[in-house]
Amino acid sequence: MKFEDYRIAQGIKTSIEKLGYKKPTDIQYKSIPPILKGEDVLAIAQTGTGKTAAFAIPIIHLLQERNKTGRNEGVKCLVMAPTHELALQTESVFKTLGENTRVTSFCIHGGVEQEPQIETLNKGVDILIATPGRMFDLVSQGALNLKGVQILVLDEADHMLDRGFIGDIRDLMKHIPRNRQTLFFSATINNKIKKLAYSLVINDAIRIQISPKDPVAKNIEHAVAFIEMDDKRFFLESLIKDNAKQKILVFVRTKVRAERVKKAMERVDINVDTIHSDRLQEEREKTMNNFRSGDLKVLVATDVSARGIDIPNVDYVVNYDMPETSDNYVHRVGRTGRGREKGQAISFCSQEEKYLLKEIEENLGKSIQKIEISKGDYKTTLEFTGEKTDDWQSLMKEAEEVNKHKPHKKGKNRKRK
Ligand code: AMP
Repeated sequence: MKFEDYRIAQGIKTSIEKLGYKKPTDIQYKSIPPILKGEDVLAIAQTGTGKTAAFAIPIIHLLQERNKTGRNEGVKCLVMAPTHELALQTESVFKTLGENTRVTSFCIHGGVEQEPQIETLNKGVDILIATPGRMFDLVSQGALNLKGVQILVLDEADHMLDRGFIGDIRDLMKHIPRNRQTLFFSATINNKIKKLAYSLVINDAIRIQISPKDPVAKNIEHAVAFIEMDDKRFFLESLIKDNAKQKILVFVRTKVRAERVKKAMERVDINVDTIHSDRLQEEREKTMNNFRSGDLKVLVATDVSARGIDIPNVDYVVNYDMPETSDNYVHRVGRTGRGREKGQAISFCSQEEKYLLKEIEENLGKSIQKIEISKGDYKTTLEFTGEKTDDWQSLMKEAEEVNKHKPHKKGKNRKRK
């Protein structure tokens, strides 16, 4: 099946062609036809599988067909996203795909002034992409009317539940018509997600589409190497220096660790930047743009800040700290190998993190390839470092920080990053 064969507006086909997409991805193939028919759909697909276009393409087509006059009739489609980054990125997919149509899209999120957002809304927006907080502010002020919503999308529904947005979602239902099409996109499926989905649709006929069976896409080569906590920075340094031209995304457990890795890399003259929740929205966007453009080659991120973001051409994902759940593993390695590109991911697993590896493998239902590092190679990597060990002050400070932020043991209070 090719995109040309779909019965969708010519303007959308032109944009798809411009983007260079030839064939639909698996989840697009499975979701576009039922969405075009107006069905409620629960699609299980990770970021990186082309899931945004899987709902954006049919939604733009449906709205283009329904609005022949081009008059401003208020918001017709609401896409809820758990994070700013995902919302902005989704907006950009809608804008690109809708470029040659009359359908307009706009994103609202907190952390910026609301007046300009209200002005744009007043001019008329067909598709609104929003994070829950700012959307409710505007609805309660009467600045946003959702009575004309025909299609509701909950993107990363699992992540929405994890972040405690369930109450917000239920409140939202009071503001939008019951008679609508509802679409759920989620990276994982469990009873909670199914319950949420069935509670939000009028009839029980939800079409469930799952892609792919293996939660890690086939085009991603992923492996694990056993490296002790204190040695990880030397292995990261070596990996970055060996792959100087490649774009590398490094995941750490906490924002404190993100800053520590940054400092450690700077000591050996490697330029890296971080994204995490302690950085201002503006700084985060600037860093993301630098990374997207390739001016910045190495980005260190926490799970929450990086969920859902689409960065084309990430060559390598490094799990500097093992993720705490298999969902996070799938989300992290899914940052590489986007669409049909190839990608590589490596996890640095220390002795104290082995239980996490075991849990991840159990949940994936398969073992992850192990990279054997011989004692000689391990030693050479430690010796290879460009680090000057005479900088005692910063090393002492770092050691203090490590002690303060020892990894949580299984079952103990796991803090949000
Ligand atoms: P998503 O899962 O929506 O975050 O998309 C991941 C990446 O796949 C994005 O960079 C898209 O531009 C790309 N993509 C989406 N659909 C296709 C397709 N049919 N062919 C090739 N790449 C695609």
